[in-house]
Amino acid sequence: MENPIHNFIAGKWIPARSGKTFETRNPATGHLVAQCADSNEEDMNDAVAAARDAFESWHRLPAPRRGELLFRVAERLFHDKETLAKALTSEMGKVLMEGRGDIQEAIDMAYYMGGEGRRQFGHVAPSELPNKSGYAIREPLGVVGLITPWNFPMAIPSWKSFPALIMGNTVVLKPSPDTPYTAALFVKTLEEAGIPPGVVNLVTGSAPELGATLVKHPDVALISFTGSKATGGKVAVDAATHYKRVALEMGGKNAIIVMEDADLELAVEGILWSAFGTTGQRCTACSRLIVHAAVKEHMVSMLLDRMAKLRVGDGLDSSIDIGPLINNTQLERVHELVQVGVQEGAQLRTGGHPLTEGHYAAGYFFAPTLFDNVTPTMRIATEEIFGPVLSVLEINSLDEAIKVNNSVEYGLSSSLYTQDINRAQHAMRELRSGIVYINAGTIGSEVHLPFGGIKNTGNGHREAGQAALDTFSEWKSIYVDYSGQLQRAQIDTN
Ligand code: NAD
Repeated sequence: MENPIHNFIAGKWIPARSGKTFETRNPATGHLVAQCADSNEEDMNDAVAAARDAFESWHRLPAPRRGELLFRVAERLFHDKETLAKALTSEMGKVLMEGRGDIQEAIDMAYYMGGEGRRQFGHVAPSELPNKSGYAIREPLGVVGLITPWNFPMAIPSWKSFPALIMGNTVVLKPSPDTPYTAALFVKTLEEAGIPPGVVNLVTGSAPELGATLVKHPDVALISFTGSKATGGKVAVDAATHYKRVALEMGGKNAIIVMEDADLELAVEGILWSAFGTTGQRCTACSRLIVHAAVKEHMVSMLLDRMAKLRVGDGLDSSIDIGPLINNTQLERVHELVQVGVQEGAQLRTGGHPLTEGHYAAGYFFAPTLFDNVTPTMRIATEEIFGPVLSVLEINSLDEAIKVNNSVEYGLSSSLYTQDINRAQHAMRELRSGIVYINAGTIGSEVHLPFGGIKNTGNGHREAGQAALDTFSEWKSIYVDYSGQLQRAQIDTN
């Protein structure tokens, strides 16, 4: 795409009204990725107006036709997958293999939601009165505002846009200031696939207030937000003040439980992938290992051995396992929490510091970190760190493990390694989180099952699967009385 990157409003790429831009840079090298429109409320108003206008024709387009457009989107994403993945890695930092996975999630979601064009089933129910029928159908909400983070810069916009579009809504996307370029590539793909003007609009900007203008806009019917708990709280308050529907996906403090009967080799693979994949910057990242005392020493030594071999560096280099953190703020936050862990008495077994020498100097790299002897109330065991830091907590029974797992304020993803079916069944019921894995790590959801969390992770909505349709639609119940006379429900009971 040509630099600078403009907003996409009413089917046109146009600069911010102020003419201002802001930079997005590669977190591994510091190289400039793009200059992007630094928008304000005026630009947001333009985008919402375009989406409102486009809604009239878009929601009347038969849903199967909307689905066909999503299939075109899937095909284009598939065709451009490698180019898009490289661009995503250059802007966000995750290793290229995971960059490809980010695009693949968008492809999967486009195909899945495209299919919903022919599957928007409602309900048909008998009436309690004769010669009367009743049924319920889904209807779109109108203009929906999507506010997204940087950690899945293609997948998360797709997880929100595609269910919104298939239900007949029009969209204004406000991406993270850390990944506006990838968001523009996403929207460009939709444009090339033939999504009509105004149906999808993109407004980029560096200021947090930009997101708030979308939340407060009277013509926006729903806000779908993914990000931190702190920001989610503000979005919820703003949305409530404007009597607006809001779906929140926020933080996590996910754990893997390893019992003494587990396949330890398998568990180590799952722990490494879940704790250090995406440099620990997944909402479902494993940041606590809750392990039975009988195998703890062995597990820790296996992990240390494998962690020593992890290669940190530029995600575009195929020999690299772990990329940089997204920015300096995040680097400082991770470092600060590690220091808190040390002060609180946890035993730092490896890592614990930024990597700054040589080719690391230009990026935001942090050494993979393992804390041992962590207790459940320490801050490193309760707060989301969002970095390559794993805390080991020792337990003596499954019930104790479940109690520790459930003791945090979040409830997104939990995992248990055991060979015992009875233990697994017990844990599936007792683990308090929106997602549970048995004999797999805490990451790896698929687009056709609901995704989201309980407690302070979310506010009751789910993304993906059929559940996403509930977020992006309203139910309308329709009664048709063909008796030719007044029939009174609940009154004419005989
Ligand atoms: P963030 O909360 O800083 O920002 C998220 C988005 O909100 C950005 O687009 C930002 O510009 C916007 N924003 C900031 N202030 C706003 C305001 N007052 N009103 C409206 N919008 C505003 O989060 P982040 O650092 O981009 O992402 C990391 C966080 O996202 C982590 O906490 C992670 O757990 C969470 N996350 C959750 C999920 C999930 O599904 N549960 C998935 C991915 C990431």
